[in-house]
Amino acid sequence: MKGKVIVLLAGFIVGVVFAVAVGCLKLRSPEVVVREPEVPGEATIEYTPPGPPEIPAELVTNYMPMIQRMLNPKVEKVTDHVYVAMGYALGNIIMIITDEGLVIIDSSDNQEVAATMMKDFRKITDKPVRYLVYTHFHPDHTNGSRSIYEPGVEVIATEQFLYWIDYQNNLLGKHHQRSRSNQSGNAAPEYAFEIPVIGRSPVQVDRVKKPDVVMPTITFKDKYSFRLGNKRFELFHAPGETEDQLAMWMPEERILFPGDDYYHSFPNLSTPMLESRPVQGWIDSLNKFLELDAKIMVPQHTWPIRGEEVVREHLVNYRDAVKYVHDNTVRCINEGKTVHQAVAEVRLPKRLAELPYLKENYGRVDWSVRGIYHGYKGWYDGKGTSLYPLPPSHRARETVRLAGGANNILARAIELQKNGEHQLCMELCDIVLEANPHDRLANRIKAESAHQQAYVYKNLNTFGFFRSAYSLHMKAANE
Ligand SMILES: [Zn+2]
Repeated sequence: MKGKVIVLLAGFIVGVVFAVAVGCLKLRSPEVVVREPEVPGEATIEYTPPGPPEIPAELVTNYMPMIQRMLNPKVEKVTDHVYVAMGYALGNIIMIITDEGLVIIDSSDNQEVAATMMKDFRKITDKPVRYLVYTHFHPDHTNGSRSIYEPGVEVIATEQFLYWIDYQNNLLGKHHQRSRSNQSGNAAPEYAFEIPVIGRSPVQVDRVKKPDVVMPTITFKDKYSFRLGNKRFELFHAPGETEDQLAMWMPEERILFPGDDYYHSFPNLSTPMLESRPVQGWIDSLNKFLELDAKIMVPQHTWPIRGEEVVREHLVNYRDAVKYVHDNTVRCINEGKTVHQAVAEVRLPKRLAELPYLKENYGRVDWSVRGIYHGYKGWYDGKGTSLYPLPPSHRARETVRLAGGANNILARAIELQKNGEHQLCMELCDIVLEANPHDRLANRIKAESAHQQAYVYKNLNTFGFFRSAYSLHMKAANE
């Protein structure tokens, strides 16, 4: 056996030497050639910015009243023992009164707003807080906890909460602060435009200081229940909006507190700048909620829903919408479609898309498709180029050179802007900015198109992202 290997090896070496000798096999060590193209000069053409965008009538008649409803602070009585404070900030706080004290669900966006909400609850009862339940780790649910907690209060969350609160506030703390500022339109507030009707950002999550969150005293993996006074509370792990999400159920009253697994909007199945979300878990959680046959459902955003039939209808349609988007994205992946093709193809069926509680006011179907697609699939597109891509500046500089300079590209961008083709205008500006990030004119033109785009999509997060893009480019244009 050993002799056979030696003979084979010797044959191979002789073969290679012969091939090299007759010149049919070239042996060398190829090198990666990287040439950094020259930075183009700054654009110098004349530009008259368009006036401020027209506000679409639909935005004022449909969308703004919903936002205003969400921003109109009030404590709503759900039953004699359940109250929800809504409209003070992004996150609601729920109070449940028992004859031995209070159970509070979540703590809203910051300590000041939580203190105001608790003060308004104190007009109804002076019973002590006994339990504080966190539905999940997000800042609009945990950042106000110091205004609710007193020594002796039991603070309940899932075991998974411990990982995710650390992930959000420490491991990726700086990134989280930055991306939430971006999403809420506050990336560079000194350069941001005013929000019509509202005038200020509807999001008040405390982003300046490092959050000081009271940590749980009780955690559980799947289920936890307790009785306080005359009421029983059943908590269970319900992944959806987050991996650590819990829902609470009051079996005697048949009231469901779904956390953020339900709110009146197509759900945010994928947040463009944050971790991917467990969409299949979300479907399973909605199915679990349906089994409960709740009489009332009180979410942590938007407002309560009353009546078995109404709750069921909302949950069934919500589940169907999430499942439709998930399953069709998976189908596109299996059919070998690109993410762009999947985004273009997957649309909610009309009967679901037209429901007021599935309007894409907060989550978006296209972003969800993108998030699910990339969550399942690796980053490589199979085309070779993207295995070892050059910095985008290289391609952009060659493109600007081929176009005859930044002036030519931006002249076309201005034409597109005048024509209302703002996305293509921004993409041309990006070529110039990738070639030379300091091109003030490209920053200015792009800012104006981002301002116009903010009003096109009628989505809270889109509005925030474009408001941030506007302000960051205005800042760069003025530096
Ligand atoms: Zn939330």
